[in-house]
Amino acid sequence: MIVATAERSATRLQRDFAALRKDFPALQQLIHGKPLAYLDNAASSQSPTAVHEAMALQQRLHHSNVHRGVHQLSERSTAAYEGAREKVRRFINASSTTEIVFTRGTTESINLVAASFGQRLRAGDEVLITWLEHHSNIVPWQLLCERTGARLVVSPIRDDGSLDGAAFEQLLNERTRIVALAHVSNALGTLNPVAELVAKAHAAGAVVLVDGAQAVPHLRVDMQDLDCDFYAFSGHKMFGPTGTGVLYGKRAHLETMPPYQGGGDMILTVSFERSTYNALPYKFEAGTPNITGVVGLGAAVDYLESIDFAAVDAHEHALLERATERVLAEIPGARIVGTAARKASVLSFVVDGIHAHDLGTIVDREGVAIRTGHHCAMPVMERFGVAATARASFALYNNHDDVDRLLAGLQRAVEIFRG
Ligand code: PMP
Repeated sequence: MIVATAERSATRLQRDFAALRKDFPALQQLIHGKPLAYLDNAASSQSPTAVHEAMALQQRLHHSNVHRGVHQLSERSTAAYEGAREKVRRFINASSTTEIVFTRGTTESINLVAASFGQRLRAGDEVLITWLEHHSNIVPWQLLCERTGARLVVSPIRDDGSLDGAAFEQLLNERTRIVALAHVSNALGTLNPVAELVAKAHAAGAVVLVDGAQAVPHLRVDMQDLDCDFYAFSGHKMFGPTGTGVLYGKRAHLETMPPYQGGGDMILTVSFERSTYNALPYKFEAGTPNITGVVGLGAAVDYLESIDFAAVDAHEHALLERATERVLAEIPGARIVGTAARKASVLSFVVDGIHAHDLGTIVDREGVAIRTGHHCAMPVMERFGVAATARASFALYNNHDDVDRLLAGLQRAVEIFRG
């Protein structure tokens, strides 16, 4: 396990990360007879044994409903579920567990804010997003604008895929009610200077939702430092299970927001005339939640907490740099899409004359898993004049061998297509 130390050599770092790879059973298998090089982490990451075991134990022995029973199993399940909430709170440095709402994922977290907070928007108000957004940080705002008559405004990006900060500032005005932006772009890897952008949006009187789906597995995110109003992320991209996610919301906002869905657990009293709502965060968690999933998410947080994020950053950046240099140097006709100075570990690229899907299919035969397509970010693709890219995205368990294997797979594709 990698523990925090101030200084470490590059070789030592590689050795530590090689040991950590053994925690992930999915990485130990052969695909098409070859060892798996899993480079589709931006879509979904693999999970460690600790997560599988925590979920299996919960399901096998402790399973019961939460918050309701007086019996042992319900108490155990409630303790595990609420324990995970405290782990998430500490992990992102939120002030209180009342600010941590469990959801199905980033998409549901954003929809919750659009549906609930969004009810206060009126015709003429503006929602400011950026050109970098994933569809799940575009469409919920579009739907909100259709419902309310508010206007969706899009902040442009530069040719390297970085946000144009001056344009962003100009677009902020007294009509801007909500700013919604990605912390890290899933299609390009661009890392936005979120704290700075939040401060600017606040100065204009807007509240800010940050889509942190691609940031949480790579960076230390701190709600006090970022000072955003809402922060959304998914369990399955941070080594946890699918069907789990988090909405962080400042208590002052959550208090004044109407419920998102109605049902059990989110109420205090119900009569046919009127219902009253439960305290935070339960007001936003209607129905039986994904208890086993949340327990797994808590185990994923434990796993991440045991790792030095500065070491993760150094390791992933070394992989990104090596892959970027080698793709450009060794694959004729390759072009990187998204070259911002500040990037997380996403490498999106196109190769002249070879469709991204063909690249993906050929490297898969070599045991290399990458993503191809529009990455649920069609406007980004349009901005760069491509229909699709091939995307390799790195996580803490990847290594130099994975990069070498990617390059060998791409060279094979070039041989097949160019003879
Ligand atoms: N935002 C970003 C930046 C993403 O990368 C993704 C997943 N690709 C999402 C939102 C949506 O996440 P989910 O499908 O887990 O809700």
